[in-house]
Amino acid sequence: MYLAVAGVGTIRIADCGTLELSNLNRQILHDDSRINKNKALSAQETLTRLNPEIKVEPVAEEITDANTEAVIGTVDLIVDCLDNFETRQILNKYAVKTRTPLIHAGVYGMRGQITFIKPPETPCLWCMHTGTLPKTLFPIVGATAGVIGCLEALEALKYLSGVGTNLMGRMLIWDGSTMEFMELPQKKIPDCPVCGEMK
Ligand SMILES: [Zn+2]
Repeated sequence: MYLAVAGVGTIRIADCGTLELSNLNRQILHDDSRINKNKALSAQETLTRLNPEIKVEPVAEEITDANTEAVIGTVDLIVDCLDNFETRQILNKYAVKTRTPLIHAGVYGMRGQITFIKPPETPCLWCMHTGTLPKTLFPIVGATAGVIGCLEALEALKYLSGVGTNLMGRMLIWDGSTMEFMELPQKKIPDCPVCGEMK
């Protein structure tokens, strides 16, 4: 929503899911009237209403290894708003392969994390997590997704406008239960299977 109102000209949103009541504690792009609607199409409706001047491209498909090129294509920046590490690693591989910057973020309960990946200079997501985690259901307090989502939007706007310093090689962790931020420096793994051979 902040990218749309800031005037980011083209926003492509990939979401194969349909809106469920339980999403509405955090997914404020949508509302009660859109239950059972595809979320990419619902997002398009909201964003176009917020800013009719921009182009919103909904993609109602699941991101897989086989379709990244078709779904993501050539873009200036990829923003990870995912709920699982399996698909995040697919995005990471595509970002490294095409040297497209990727903002990674995730939330759990009242905690969140965010970093800016810029291949080939920074560590990739595989370097930071060394693999994938199993898909599980996890709790989220809606406002936590709001805080981390706003930080992602700010990172995106800074990068796209060339202002400020991005979180490159730095993982910012926010703990909402104590209102503390901390930062963990990240290093490239020389033999990383995703970005290891890049010079
Ligand atoms: Zn790597």
